[in-house]
Amino acid sequence: MTKNCKQILENSNSCGSYAMNDGSGFCISHNPAARDIKELAVKKGGFAIKKQALPQLPSIEIQSKADVPRLLTTVIEEVRHGTIDLKSANTLGYLAGILIKAYELTDMQEKIEEIERIVLERKRTY
Ligand SMILES: [Zn+2]
Repeated sequence: MTKNCKQILENSNSCGSYAMNDGSGFCISHNPAARDIKELAVKKGGFAIKKQALPQLPSIEIQSKADVPRLLTTVIEEVRHGTIDLKSANTLGYLAGILIKAYELTDMQEKIEEIERIVLERKRTY
């Protein structure tokens, strides 16, 4: 049966984390005997986070719909050369899709506004 850590915290509550099964009655954070293990775990965690960090990519300026194919071409090349992780490539592909839709909506809105303007002008002249 798992017991909880017996450490009393500054707010007088007990820690409540699962105690290690070494008979100490403390969790890994409060067990004095586990300091080395904890430091190793923190280091390993630090390494894991660094590993997941995005690689340094050259910035790609996107100012219009016409720039999106260049972004996608770059990502495709990076996937082919293994210079970008697949998770980042997938994310960029997904975001590029949203970006294209946003540009299309903006284009559509501009066309509608133009048509409205023409219709209103014709109403005034007749
Ligand atoms: Zn604890």
